Amino acid sequence: MPSAGIKCGMRGWKVLLRTIEKRRVMTNKKNQVIRTSLGLKDEVLDDLEKDYKSPLVEKMKQEGNRLSIGNFNFHIAQEFGFCYGVEKTVDFAYQTIKKFPDKKIYTTSEMIHNPRVNLRLRDLGVEFLDGQYSQGKSLNDITEEDVVLIPAFGLTPNDLERLKEKGCILVDTTCGSVVHVWKRVERYAKEGFTSLIHGKYNHEETIATSSHVTEGPGGHFIVVRDMPQTQTVCDYIENGGDKDKFLEEFKLAVSEGFDPDKHLPQMGVANQTTMLSSESLEIAEKIKQSLSKRYGSENINEHFRSFDTICSATQERQDAILELAQSKTIDLILVIGGYNSSNTTHLAELSLEYHPAFHIQEASEILSLKEIRHQPIGKEDQVVESGWLPQGKVSIGLTAGASTPNRVIEDVIQRLIELSK
Ligand code: SF4
Repeated sequence: MPSAGIKCGMRGWKVLLRTIEKRRVMTNKKNQVIRTSLGLKDEVLDDLEKDYKSPLVEKMKQEGNRLSIGNFNFHIAQEFGFCYGVEKTVDFAYQTIKKFPDKKIYTTSEMIHNPRVNLRLRDLGVEFLDGQYSQGKSLNDITEEDVVLIPAFGLTPNDLERLKEKGCILVDTTCGSVVHVWKRVERYAKEGFTSLIHGKYNHEETIATSSHVTEGPGGHFIVVRDMPQTQTVCDYIENGGDKDKFLEEFKLAVSEGFDPDKHLPQMGVANQTTMLSSESLEIAEKIKQSLSKRYGSENINEHFRSFDTICSATQERQDAILELAQSKTIDLILVIGGYNSSNTTHLAELSLEYHPAFHIQEASEILSLKEIRHQPIGKEDQVVESGWLPQGKVSIGLTAGASTPNRVIEDVIQRLIELSK
């Protein structure tokens, strides 16, 4: 009997130890997400300055955002370039590289939408698990030995869970303004409202935001890119219509099981943080009017919610380019930033309302004083345009998207000066 008791006791101990170990691993897995500075901010400052800052642009800022040289008068917008979210993301990425010199470091997609930054991170050894810089590895290849960076746009809850399960170290640089949108759409879902997201259905941020809608039971979303798509939604709200045709048009932009008859009557509007803010407000108003027409304005609170989730950095850059573009002394505007950068594209769209405007990614897009390669508004391919620069004295407006380093702006200015020598 005693020996049986001892055996039973040992088995009990083994079970207990296994449980403790399991809990320890689970606790480690839960605690492995780093969301604050890694304590190496000062150590990476010089590298960040060397790679992205520009003494010339700093000088321009001190001198009224202007620079006159040769035939060129450059005017730069009051707000431009790196936003607070991007500053944090790039800073955390550099700190991560410094902190884990012996580990393999991955990012789940582009860290931000700027080729200069992504290529520099790749040179520093960061491997991309998705997107144009990917070298073929995926989340499946991650092990507990690795470090994974989560970009400014965030990540879907599913992918986050998968990575936590792997036991790797996660450095989450998701921008606080993006998290703010997630909270908003989660609340809509809890209240039984469908999220209507003004954004691009295949943009990393909108993918993450829409996945937060469906995280809980019964959450649904529809993503509209622009006013024509909003009009389709409004027509259906007001008059009903061909459900199959509607679902075909939005097949890539709605939640699974989306039914316009069931899910359009109660809607909460949110937006990808980098959309054109005037368009987002117009879309919200249009949806509200349609719901009012269909269900009566006295009942609107039961059918409509709205919250402007454009981030302050996007808003400030859009306001600043509008102010600059309205100046009559400007001849043309160069908008500098990644071709896949949503906020840069909108800066170009606003500029074009007032002046010839060219969205370029790097200084090398200025082929000569006669030819420029740029991405026209609404297009995904670049074109070469001749006769872009007026002869003689010229006033050039400049702005840059929230993911564009000042160093790239300096390169553009230097390129023009060099070409004019
Ligand atoms: S553009 Fe706005 S949401 Fe995006 S990273 Fe910058 S501050 Fe954050």
